[in-house]
Amino acid sequence: MTVITTDIRDQISALADWWEAAGVTLDHREIDRLIKAANTEQKAAPSTVTPLRGANRGIAEAEALARGAQDLDALRDALARFDGCELKETASKTVFADGIADADIMVIGEGPGRDEDRVGKPFVGRAGQLLDRMLASIGLSRETNAYITNVNFWRPPGNRNPTDEELALCRPFVDRHIALVQPKLIIATGAVPAKALLGVPDGIMKLRGKTYQLTVEGLDSDIPVFPIFHPAYLLRRPVEKARAWSDLLNILAFMESRNIGPDRPN
Ligand code: URA
Repeated sequence: MTVITTDIRDQISALADWWEAAGVTLDHREIDRLIKAANTEQKAAPSTVTPLRGANRGIAEAEALARGAQDLDALRDALARFDGCELKETASKTVFADGIADADIMVIGEGPGRDEDRVGKPFVGRAGQLLDRMLASIGLSRETNAYITNVNFWRPPGNRNPTDEELALCRPFVDRHIALVQPKLIIATGAVPAKALLGVPDGIMKLRGKTYQLTVEGLDSDIPVFPIFHPAYLLRRPVEKARAWSDLLNILAFMESRNIGPDRPN
């Protein structure tokens, strides 16, 4: 049975026509995928009426698996064994992390997009390239002193945002991930990871430019969290780069004040 409403299909098609009329070349395979994804979500909708018991069971299982992981390899294996989040069924890869495992700086994003789902590493598409340049501007790099992961490990269909339930199912792995890396500073790229980590409803405009403290089970002290604009947002709104730069300078000043991050001359 086809459940997709003509509404969603018509809306996506109308939007595509509008962009094409404006002279933008579109990838029609991506549009077909969006329509299919909308269809999948539409089909999934009735089951969200009674999700809580299942979700709670999934969270309990995630907690047990995450708690049992004593190092990052074990955490990666635990995540591979976890089937409690439906996103895993539609994603092609579990995207765990990239970078230096004992880095002082942990960058946490929203979740894999199309490129990350294909490659199996976080932030490898256009937004990831901009993220790398942003990090480089303050002496950070996934090759030398930064560790990169996400609050969600599987690409949501159609690149939609992960739901609260999906984030809750990933959360035990995220907390354990932080506890094992023991970063001295977390950079949260965008509203989704900032809100999820801090448990606040505010948008990124309100959260950026300030420092928050995150308490993580298994760590003796709280970790400072710096929310910044997501690089994908900066690609769409380059005018915000000035504020993004000011946030990066803020992080640099913090790292210098604590003597963490980029290697310093003796
Ligand atoms: N955006 C994110 O937030 N994370 C990724 O890994 C890629 C894009």
